Amino acid sequence: SETKVPNCGSRIMVFVRLRPMSKKEKEGGSRCCVRIVNRRDVYLTEFANENDYLRLKRLRGRHFTFDASFPDSTCQQEVYSTSTAELVEAVLQGRNGSVFCYGATGAGKTYTMLGTLESPGVMVLAIKDLFTKIRQRSCDGNHAVHLSYLEVYNETVRDLLSPGRPLVLREDKQGMVAAGLTQYRAYSTDEVMQLLQQGNQNRTTEPTRCNETSSRSHAILQVVVEYQVRDASMNVVNRVGKLSLIDLAGSERALATDQRTVRSIEGANINRSLLALSSCINALVEGKKHIPYRNSKLTQLLKDSLGGDCNTVMIANISPCNLSFGETQNTLHWADRAKEI
Ligand code: ADP
Ligand code: MG
Repeated sequence: SETKVPNCGSRIMVFVRLRPMSKKEKEGGSRCCVRIVNRRDVYLTEFANENDYLRLKRLRGRHFTFDASFPDSTCQQEVYSTSTAELVEAVLQGRNGSVFCYGATGAGKTYTMLGTLESPGVMVLAIKDLFTKIRQRSCDGNHAVHLSYLEVYNETVRDLLSPGRPLVLREDKQGMVAAGLTQYRAYSTDEVMQLLQQGNQNRTTEPTRCNETSSRSHAILQVVVEYQVRDASMNVVNRVGKLSLIDLAGSERALATDQRTVRSIEGANINRSLLALSSCINALVEGKKHIPYRNSKLTQLLKDSLGGDCNTVMIANISPCNLSFGETQNTLHWADRAKEI
């Protein structure tokens, strides 16, 4: 029997995840400026003097509420179950969905999306869940899971599973496709983590710090699931659904270029993809007929996974460290706006 397709309508589900204080931050005497209460409420505090331990004078406090807020003790599985499991269920019923991690560099986006071998993140847990569920449902064992993993950097699209020349986007019957993009057929979860870790290493790095992923790089994992089920009259029907999981570029640059004049093409382009994403989300919220997907590579790629009948989840990643107060405040404000949708 069919379960109801989970549908959050045009509303975007918004979650906040606080990362733990790092050893370095603790040793440097950083203080925690974020408190999460009741799994929903986030309290942000600004201190008067960053170096004055004794006074701890509070300047301003602010309070936000989200669909769920994850304290720094929250495990990967709980983040997955609360934020993304419903989307996976919907994808299996043919409704596309997307999950975005948003936040400043160092706030925990890649940890949340990809994670580590010991603590795999949302991308891996989603695929694991997909495999388990398909095997339970597929009527004659017929199913296929295809992965593609790509990067948008400086408005250029690259294949992270098979690095090489930039890919050209083309519109065809199925929507926007990157010509020549690797469609990796996955058979088990075990192989996926390694594949994604490798892909992540193919992301563009800063010229000055070669092993650090550029904060301007967006990574997009697209998972296409196809399987067969029997409908009410016992006919075999094909189900296809697509899930997009996106580790967005650091939001600090977008905010910086927003306020100041655009200094470089690179700055303008990163701004373009993040701004285009915001514009699309705003247009969807306002129920506009025209959604400006064409404005950036990121939004072109996500055209069939954002808006319409799709489910959307935002995970805003924040740091607890008082030195990141400004970025954290910006991220929370942005997430608060997305919530209005
Ligand atoms: P971003 O991708 O947003 O730049 P990262 O995901 O790379 O940030 O996180 C920065 C650092 O903090 C990494 O060393 C990461 O392992 C660690 N980290 C982030 N979130 C968590 C968490 N929830 N638990 C433990 N460590 C975390
Ligand atoms: Mg990262």
